Amino acid sequence: MPAPSRTAPRWRSPARPIRVGVSSCLLGREVRYDGGHKRNAFVEGELGRFVEWVPVCPEVEVGMGVPRPPIRILQPEATDGEHAQRLCEVEGGRDHTAVMRHFAVRRTRELARERICGFVLKQDSPTCGMERVEVWRSDGASDRSGRGFFARALIEASPLLPVEEEQRLDDPVLRENFVECIFAYHRLQTLLADRLGRGDLAAFHTAHEMQLLAHSRRHGHELGRLVAEARGRSNAALGAAYSEGFMQTLRHPATPRGHGHVLRHMFGRFRTRLDDASRRELRDAIEAYCAGRVPLLAPVTLIGQHVRRLGVDELAGQVYLDPHPTELMLRNRV
Ligand code: SF4
Repeated sequence: MPAPSRTAPRWRSPARPIRVGVSSCLLGREVRYDGGHKRNAFVEGELGRFVEWVPVCPEVEVGMGVPRPPIRILQPEATDGEHAQRLCEVEGGRDHTAVMRHFAVRRTRELARERICGFVLKQDSPTCGMERVEVWRSDGASDRSGRGFFARALIEASPLLPVEEEQRLDDPVLRENFVECIFAYHRLQTLLADRLGRGDLAAFHTAHEMQLLAHSRRHGHELGRLVAEARGRSNAALGAAYSEGFMQTLRHPATPRGHGHVLRHMFGRFRTRLDDASRRELRDAIEAYCAGRVPLLAPVTLIGQHVRRLGVDELAGQVYLDPHPTELMLRNRV
């Protein structure tokens, strides 16, 4: 992103650090039932340089102590669905459902007030797991259809919040998408915290146009129509509808095809202003990326350099050119 000018909107350079929730054990805190931890190197190390973690251990915060008896999700006999499930100790069956539900509602409200911009959850946990958590039935059978009690409350309370599990972040596509969503949500929150005018929203959308199209052309175009046809809507209704569409679009991981479309589109905006050698170099870099021979960083860096050198104003402010810290090297893989 270009350096903000004096008149640049606040979302261009939002307050740092970005606050992100995390299951405490992923930071190496010894809060697990057995007194251990599940430190995750990417979370605690690499990503931790760019965000301020807001650690939460629901089981410790409700007073279950360390060490403590392990718990699991039970589906009582003759019941169906998540809302009938119970959170009980494996041995003896002591039931923690009510206290955990009450805690989760209160804590997720606090987190919303703290304006967190994402949450990294510990997978498989009956409390923190986001999906595929083991659910036990009274006949002793189990399946992986569950979601942790705290995770469910968090996602229901903040449906637009970027949420991921630590092991899914080992997948480079999901990792880049999650980080991109955190930074995008932070910009969106900053925009909405100011008095939102239609012109502000239109400028925000214009700056994110290429980024949105890389994730989903259809959703990106729908959002563009929402902004263009905003007349008659209240600012609050428009902001809510835009926020939902914006985050849902970014939730679709950008594909090489989507990036290829955006790169060629940007190239087309200034190709006639390049000399032959530069034009060939950039075209080759885009095609090499699309063929999987060079990382996305190669054509994006070239485009950024040409845009700045030539003063291509309509592209200079595109968030797509710099959506997250380059030090995380999320665009360096082939
Ligand atoms: S998974 Fe959640 S509840 Fe379990 S130790 Fe980690 S933070 Fe605490």
